[in-house]
Amino acid sequence: MALLVQKYGGTSVGSIERIEAVADKVGAYRDQGNDMVVVVSAMSGETNRLIELARQIDPKARGRELDVLLTTGEQVTIALLTMALEKRGYPARSYTGGQVKIVTDSAHNKARIKSINHEKIVGDLNNGKIVVVAGFQGVDEFDNITTLGRGGSDTTGVALAAALKADECQIFTDVDGVYTTDPRVEPEARRLDSITFEEMLEMASLGSKVLQIRAVEFAQKYKVPLRVLSSFTEGEGTLITTEYGAEKTVEQALVSGIAFNRDEAQLTIAGVSDTPGIAYQILGPISDANIEVDMIVQNVSAEGDTDFTFTVHRNDFETAFASLKETAKKLKAREVTGNNRIVKLSLVGVGMRSHAGIASRMFQILANEGINIQMISTSEIKISVVIDEKYLELGVRALHEGFDLKTES
Ligand code: ADP
Ligand code: ASP
Ligand code: MG
Repeated sequence: MALLVQKYGGTSVGSIERIEAVADKVGAYRDQGNDMVVVVSAMSGETNRLIELARQIDPKARGRELDVLLTTGEQVTIALLTMALEKRGYPARSYTGGQVKIVTDSAHNKARIKSINHEKIVGDLNNGKIVVVAGFQGVDEFDNITTLGRGGSDTTGVALAAALKADECQIFTDVDGVYTTDPRVEPEARRLDSITFEEMLEMASLGSKVLQIRAVEFAQKYKVPLRVLSSFTEGEGTLITTEYGAEKTVEQALVSGIAFNRDEAQLTIAGVSDTPGIAYQILGPISDANIEVDMIVQNVSAEGDTDFTFTVHRNDFETAFASLKETAKKLKAREVTGNNRIVKLSLVGVGMRSHAGIASRMFQILANEGINIQMISTSEIKISVVIDEKYLELGVRALHEGFDLKTES
């Protein structure tokens, strides 16, 4: 008998029929003798619908009241799933994040879990109940309702699994595992039997939204066995592991996956003087406006002028652009330009550490397709480029083909 924490995402609980199907699935695991804790997301589209309602009142809606609103989505699904379980004869009980209680910091809309009081859950499990918990939410130390950022139900699942020392945290979703790239963009993408935490973390932070970054961080830190599976089909899914199995250490894949991010925008300030402190003068006001900068490139001309290009989240584009124009006046820059129709495309693989030449091969593959690279950044296990968004699908497919990701290495 095992203790399983299962998380079902929005599509998996997207209708009454699907909630009934989840109840059947959870019931089947229970029948096998497992103790079950189930975390659910809101029905698919619901969180977006609630955000849209808030925006009709205030286009800049955020903070405490937005969290009060958004957490209602998950409150609906915990109740419905629990009813469906009880209808089938399984004693079950639902809890909101605050009832559990899952305590977070006070950073509304992107709170971090600080502690979990698992007493109630353990008590219910000991009484033979299935426990259903609302994902994506908690309360701060003053009992204000908080949310964990988009996709945050994954993190609820992993955090509960860590707190309860569950045998496995199983993330059930609308794909049957982690693929070499988003199968919606590249139908030839291949499911991976396993992927290392390090690679998964990189894939998630570079835009693969199959798992929330914090969920992966949490699982790695607390050594939670983590698996991604399909709600709709049977299978082993993808196990996130600390290292490759023995068979893979010999001939490790150079590139494990391709990630992309459509949420970025690019800004350039051109023709400022190349003097100490210039980066600070340009990026200081951006960071003062609470805007995170991702990639940065600086070019210096023979004349001693410098052009400075960086990327921010698309939601921050307008604010960053306005701030940069102010800075340009002060620095007497030649011009400021912006482009929010770019994407970041990245190759990820721990095998890159020991192999040179991956970057140049990537650039060659993109060049052969006539895709212009606007920015480049690299780390030990990833290479990212910024390209025009219209080339995203073409770029993903060309790299998938070029690095032979279809075939298992
Ligand atoms: P859920 O609502 O269950 O949390 P998400 O939409 O958050 O589901 O995550 C699943 C989606 O992640 C898939 O439908 C897929 O389009 C996308 N995705 C992006 N990159 C990958 C990848 N490398 N492997 C599998 N799915 C991916
Ligand atoms: N419902 C939330 C969202 O859509 C949390 C989640 O689904 O993980 O982001
Ligand atoms: Mg998700």
